[in-house]
Amino acid sequence: MAEGRDKPGITLDLTGYLTGWNAAAERLFGYRAEEAIGQHVLFLYPEGDEDTDIAEIGLDPNGAPPTVRRRHKNGDLLWLGMEVRLIEDRGAPIGLSVHFLPIEDRLSPEDKLRLHSRIIEESDQGIMIVDADERIVSVNAAFTRITGYGAMEAIGQTPDLLRSGVHDANFRAEVRAAMHRAGPWQGEIIGRRKSGELFPQSVTISVVRNERGEITHAFSIFSDISLRKEAEASLHRLANYDAVTNLPNRSLFNQLVNQALTVARRNKDHGALLVIELARFSAINDTLGHDVGDELLVRISKLFRATLREEDVLAKLDVDKFVVALLHIEKREHAAIVAGKLLEALARPIIVDAHGLHVEAHIGIAIYPDDGKDTATLVRFADVAMTRVQQSESGGYLFYSPEMNQRAKEHLRMEHDLRGAMGNGNLQLHYQPKVSLRSGQIVGAEALIRWNDPERGAVSPGAFIPVAEQTGLILDLGAWILDEACRQLREWQDAGLSMPPVAINLSGRQFDRNLPLRIEAVLDRHGIGPDRLKLEITESLLVRGEDEVIPTMNRLVAMGIGLALDDFGTGYSSLSYLKKFPISTLKIDRSFVIGLPKEENDCAIARAIVTMAQQLRHEIVAEGVETHEQMAFLRELGCDQLQGWLFSPALPAAKLVAMVEADQRLAL
Ligand code: C2E
Ligand code: CA
Ligand code: CA
Repeated sequence: MAEGRDKPGITLDLTGYLTGWNAAAERLFGYRAEEAIGQHVLFLYPEGDEDTDIAEIGLDPNGAPPTVRRRHKNGDLLWLGMEVRLIEDRGAPIGLSVHFLPIEDRLSPEDKLRLHSRIIEESDQGIMIVDADERIVSVNAAFTRITGYGAMEAIGQTPDLLRSGVHDANFRAEVRAAMHRAGPWQGEIIGRRKSGELFPQSVTISVVRNERGEITHAFSIFSDISLRKEAEASLHRLANYDAVTNLPNRSLFNQLVNQALTVARRNKDHGALLVIELARFSAINDTLGHDVGDELLVRISKLFRATLREEDVLAKLDVDKFVVALLHIEKREHAAIVAGKLLEALARPIIVDAHGLHVEAHIGIAIYPDDGKDTATLVRFADVAMTRVQQSESGGYLFYSPEMNQRAKEHLRMEHDLRGAMGNGNLQLHYQPKVSLRSGQIVGAEALIRWNDPERGAVSPGAFIPVAEQTGLILDLGAWILDEACRQLREWQDAGLSMPPVAINLSGRQFDRNLPLRIEAVLDRHGIGPDRLKLEITESLLVRGEDEVIPTMNRLVAMGIGLALDDFGTGYSSLSYLKKFPISTLKIDRSFVIGLPKEENDCAIARAIVTMAQQLRHEIVAEGVETHEQMAFLRELGCDQLQGWLFSPALPAAKLVAMVEADQRLAL
């Protein structure tokens, strides 16, 4: 039994479990002996003090009695002096006897009250006290400063006054449960000021209990941490973004691209990394000053951003170095086109502070995965390529791989020559007849472009159309083809010839909202009826989505222009999907015609396509028909028209006229 009638005293065994608890201890701590004995002494410790070692602090014989903190059953904190003695049994220690000496309050109750309310009032943390019914009973000045609510407005309300609506009921229930369980809850909450503005606060919420353990009050002490949050956000910006241009910096760029590469690896995508260095930027910076230099960088970053697609990553690597990641490119050559556009964005002088600044850039390109499989390698190789451009003193861009440079160069040359060909008569349209399987007559012709280059000889459209598509030249070329076909139709009309309608092949890049207007203008200019013209489009156009292409298609059809789906069978269009598009003709791709009638697969596919087209009431044209067997099979299937070398290759206009006239004489 603990000794000493008037001093609160307890005894513990050597492991800290309570073995004795006197009446004064009951008064001091609020727990009865039955409640206390058998508990570990730690249950008297306030939160966070559990790790103090009682045995050591108490047993120093020379030390003054230590002052410790303990907690009353009602949660109140007690400051106590403590004396500890070893209990021995025949010389062997068996436990500890502890006496507590309540530390004398040097303040009168009135002084204490006054002092505490002063401290509360002047604390720079907001304090709000609520009663058991969760009505606010008291707030301090900082509460008003932070929330905007005066004491008069707050008192009598519930803490919902500050509720932001950001946290859900779950979160609020958790906070409540936590603070009822173990004492104070600490965390961050978003509150709402009287002005409506939300603010992050760091909060401690505690409950106060009476002797019976019932909650009488709760109080929360909070500080407004919006400034800290802003500081964190600006630190984040500093760590991840370039201060001048606000573009991602090298570190964020690495993160973004590493993530993207993980995806690219999975999808087996191609990508490209372009390092762009501005030439002589430091000279501008030195002579015109940093403000001008900074503004120039901002303007350039905006020009670049506007040139790129949204999904391309643009970042700043160095003072005068940018980097671009093209995350999926269909063809490696596309990177060259982007490089060309970026250089073009700098072609015109940039006006900063009345200076017209002409900036040149060098671009190095590395291709994923050919040149490297990780961001660091790609940046390094793009950088190497960029340095080569610098040394060549010619400006422009270079790929890291020599083979790509060769190809890019050839493309450029071809684009240049092709552009020239449009003006010098080296381009021509030939016409391949389409023959009706029922009447055997020529009922249409497809215009196919032919390029006769003085150096290269006859270049196949299979070789130059893709280049024209990549470089964008296809837009001009397509316009030339449309104009030439209409000119030819008009010439036949003027000569009084009865020629079949002409189908032209349309590149997906020509297909936009304005296409109907452009076609209408050309038809008008030549005085040609819309029924004289058909358009062949490919499935790649359909996958752009119904919303984008159907309205334009509908307008073309409304104008009276028939649409044919070319290369059918090579894409993925299902019957139900095709149904949505106003297409009148399906052209079975040559690759399925080749195997007829020997290859079983091809036969099955051709049969399925014809069945499908018949269900949709589409006209069916088989292209690339070279043999009588193919023709017989296709006729059997129920094809409407044939096109192919069996009947005729594409012919110059004059030869087509001769053929059609012979055909008509035969029919008479
Ligand atoms: P396409 O639209 O599928 O054109 C049919 C191609 O098959 C043409 O090749 C044609 O000459 C060829 N061909 C026709 N009958 C036979 C045959 O019996 N056997 C074989 N082996 N081939 C046959 P071409 O003229 O070389 O054109 C190739 C591709 O180039 C065209 O495929 C088309 O995608 C594109 N193209 C040609 N001219 C133009 C054009 O004026 N504008 C556009 N945008 N693309 C064109
Ligand atoms: Ca075609
Ligand atoms: Ca075709």
